Amino acid sequence: FKSTFPDLDIPDIDVPRYCIGEGKRHNAQSNNRSGFAIADGPTGKKMDIYEIEKKSKGFASGLANKLGFGYDDVLAIFTPNTIYYPVVFYGTLMVGGVATLVNPNYTARELAYQLKDSNSKAIATQSHLVEITKEAIGIAGLNIKNENIILLDIEANKSAVGNCHIEDFLCFEKDFVQYKISNNEAETKVAALPYSSGTTGVPKGVMLTHKNVVSSIYLNAIFAEYDEWTDRKTYPPKFIGVLPFYHIYGFNSIMNCGISMGVGIVVMPKFDSDLFLQIVQEHRITFGHVVPPIIIGLVNNPNIHKYDLSSMKSIRTGSAPMGKDALAKFYERFKNLGVVRAYGLTETSPTLSNSFKHHENDGSSGVLLNNLEAKVIDENGNLLGYNQIGELCFRGPTIMKGYLNRPDATKETIDEDGFLHTGDLGFFDLKNNLHAVDRIKELIKYKGYQVAPAELEGLLLMNENVADCAVIGIDLEEQATEVPKAYLVLVEKHKSASKEEKDRLAKEIGAWLNQQVAPHKKLRGGVEVLEAIPKNNSGKILRKELKTLEIVKQLAYYT
Ligand code: AMP
Repeated sequence: FKSTFPDLDIPDIDVPRYCIGEGKRHNAQSNNRSGFAIADGPTGKKMDIYEIEKKSKGFASGLANKLGFGYDDVLAIFTPNTIYYPVVFYGTLMVGGVATLVNPNYTARELAYQLKDSNSKAIATQSHLVEITKEAIGIAGLNIKNENIILLDIEANKSAVGNCHIEDFLCFEKDFVQYKISNNEAETKVAALPYSSGTTGVPKGVMLTHKNVVSSIYLNAIFAEYDEWTDRKTYPPKFIGVLPFYHIYGFNSIMNCGISMGVGIVVMPKFDSDLFLQIVQEHRITFGHVVPPIIIGLVNNPNIHKYDLSSMKSIRTGSAPMGKDALAKFYERFKNLGVVRAYGLTETSPTLSNSFKHHENDGSSGVLLNNLEAKVIDENGNLLGYNQIGELCFRGPTIMKGYLNRPDATKETIDEDGFLHTGDLGFFDLKNNLHAVDRIKELIKYKGYQVAPAELEGLLLMNENVADCAVIGIDLEEQATEVPKAYLVLVEKHKSASKEEKDRLAKEIGAWLNQQVAPHKKLRGGVEVLEAIPKNNSGKILRKELKTLEIVKQLAYYT
């Protein structure tokens, strides 16, 4: 299946030159009437595109001169959304470096894993995360000095002694030479390194090249023009940056797209339904990127009528399936709003398809963006046609280079013809709309964020009372999300324990695990003791059987 839009020439350019250059072009043409490129929702502190450029160069000079940071060195961005995020990202790339994006809710153990796996040399974070950062550096056994931890608090915090605030770190050098991508590097030089577990196993570094990132921004911006996401004449276009920038959706679709499209982005450090509505009202937000649970939250928010949301023209949902019924309820409440439904993966930078904002509520995720191709295959790799469900595979300029230091995982994911196998089941209908209907990969998504069962299973097996285990996702339709649930087999000495004792132990083990992981990975689906974990002859967990077990239990509960 080929995109129905024409193939376009995508500029061979590095990410900062593209984003900042395009942002300035829009400014010069007075397209960005919001007067800022990025603003902090709670405090109102703002930066325009010229300040982002100046500070990014200052950050790059600081990295080179103060830390000796350079070509292919990795900097970890470990922070809630902040107006400094683009400065740090573009600055890192301006010295030829790579930025790895870290979930700010991570525990020290989780951060240590990513720092070590990515071989990070410097960390940009905030004062309240310095303790965790230092603990993680210790766990990872890395030699990252205090001066390599740069603080991004919105106001410089003088009490965080020993670490430099970004405003003091910036170095304004006249003869600073910005890294420029050479022709043979556009498709190979890594720019961003978000983490994803892919179809199986633990989180892996997803190598997104300058070409991948620029292509995704470019193709999305072209679609945004086709579908008129911004009405520049009557409204200064504004996005709300509520989704975290560490995740590819917030990072590329909101931050990088917003900056290069000359849109003002109002940043929220974390989601809160009322604060979201307040920011939409105060800042006259015109377009909001959200995930399905936020849509449900908005429909159910009893305070919604107190806010003037008339500036909001459309929203865009992605990262997880948007149920038809839930969307119908949303349309009942917000009659004139357009809803763009998007589908993509971290490994595809992310957007593969978008629905038009006034597309019918058909459960699809719209049409392929320009320059993209797809194939749908059965278990034996045979090609399937329209309306036939199989594994969705994609090819095009936004497909990752591969997983960092994991050639085998890369080979299993990208086939010889260059198609990325998503581990999602879906089909194309006769109108070329893509429908993602199920997942064959292990991945669990809690409110749009990844939970890798293999990671939780690995941790559970470290508990002295656990002999075997499996973690699956349970659907919570009313909240438009899945929640992780663990099944345990207890070690021999507990085998003859009473049911109550086993339940008590299961709870205790669940609490023990929950302490060690970021909030989105907690076992909200509970913990259950089984006699054995269903497995096939080669020892692979039969997750489908566990899912069926859950469905049978739910049916029994409702009948
Ligand atoms: P991530 O890499 O965290 O963006 O997760 C990618 C996965 O999220 C996909 O492989 C899908 O399983 C799921 N996903 C993303 N967008 C959609 C969508 N529109 N509908 C259904 N599932 C989606």
